[in-house]
Amino acid sequence: MSEDKKVLQEFKLETDNELRFEVESKTEKVYLTLKSGLAEVFGTELVKGKTYEFTAGAKVAVFTWHGCVVEVKGKTDVVYTAKETPMVMYSNCHGALEFMRADAEKENKRGPIAMIVGPCDVGKSTVCRILLNYAVRMSRRPIFVDLDIGQGQISIPGTIGALMIERPASIDEGFSQEAPLVYHFGHKSPSTNPTLFNMLIQQLANTVKERLEVNKKTRSSGVIINTCGWIKGPGYKQLINSAKAFEVDVIMVLDQERLYNELVRDMPNFVKVIFLPKSGGVVERSKTARSEYRDQRIKEYFYGTPKNSLYPHSFDLKFSEVKIYKIGAPALPDSCLPLGMKADDHLTKLVVLTPNAGILHHILAVSFSEKDDDDIILSHAAGFVCVTNVDTDRQIITLLSPQPKPLPNNILVLSELQFMDSH
Ligand code: ADP
Repeated sequence: MSEDKKVLQEFKLETDNELRFEVESKTEKVYLTLKSGLAEVFGTELVKGKTYEFTAGAKVAVFTWHGCVVEVKGKTDVVYTAKETPMVMYSNCHGALEFMRADAEKENKRGPIAMIVGPCDVGKSTVCRILLNYAVRMSRRPIFVDLDIGQGQISIPGTIGALMIERPASIDEGFSQEAPLVYHFGHKSPSTNPTLFNMLIQQLANTVKERLEVNKKTRSSGVIINTCGWIKGPGYKQLINSAKAFEVDVIMVLDQERLYNELVRDMPNFVKVIFLPKSGGVVERSKTARSEYRDQRIKEYFYGTPKNSLYPHSFDLKFSEVKIYKIGAPALPDSCLPLGMKADDHLTKLVVLTPNAGILHHILAVSFSEKDDDDIILSHAAGFVCVTNVDTDRQIITLLSPQPKPLPNNILVLSELQFMDSH
């Protein structure tokens, strides 16, 4: 055992304090154990005596409402106790949502639809996680919607999706990903194709509303929506569109007063807009860290996590066995537009692709669409595969897939995202 692994520190936390630590270097692991008292990590309670393992890149906050003693083993990059946290405010928001849920339950109405907005790296995803955990700990069954296509928590980057939350997030692995509803967008940022992004958001919102209709418990529990940090200009318009599509009741604005004021000005009166401070513990991510996070998410999709390994399959398919599409054609100059066609219609045009070297390492969404027409654009995804080889001579494409052959559908849609399979 190296010296570092033996490092063992004990922390006594007072009421409302938070222990924050980061696991930075690639090879390190850090182990956390609650020795006495009560504590939680982003809203999930720690079990006394159980040891939790955190791997490279983890940024963790152990918060206690009542005081506790925790033990941290292994080399942390940073470790400190914070006395100032916004947890009381987050908990008050949960209290207000809970009030609305109880009301909705009594009257068999729809519970609160809350959207969390703010710039990048202010803790939006973390606040969603805390609110969802608190809800589920009160026996609610909310829906989590993630519109953050770059750094989201549902499925792989380049998608938006929804997940029914039935139990608290696991401390080290987040929410269980059973049967998420996923729509393929195919880009890292919504600004690449705002028209398509908007259409998909409307489609996801419609499906989520249908789910609320059919499940009484979920209906009164409501929805928590995470968004991406694109909040200026067209990004702001996009937020307004998302709020409209989901018919939100509450918008929580993290950290930015300007955005808060704009939303107070532009949202109808029945939408409550609340300002919340960000936690001093939120860690900023560099461009490289964001890109590494995306790679990591895709890798986990195919290979699982250290705790839950997955074994993907690799197989060949003939070009004739698949139909590959790309969404979005090159723009035509206005003068060449066919009659009745709008200038941005090309953004949502389906283009057939013959497999070629250009799609190597790209992710392909396996569509649920039954017809090979425009339905493909708005269909949700059955799953994802990665192109690991294209043999144009033999007309064969090799795919990495979580499931063995055959694919659930032969309609595949190209993503801008790539994954280098180094296994
Ligand atoms: P956003 O969704 O706004 O981009 P995140 O919620 O993903 O921000 O937070 C960024 C990072 O900061 C995450 O790795 C998260 O685990 C970490 N983080 C959030 N809150 C805290 C905290 N109180 N202490 C330590 N790390 C935190």
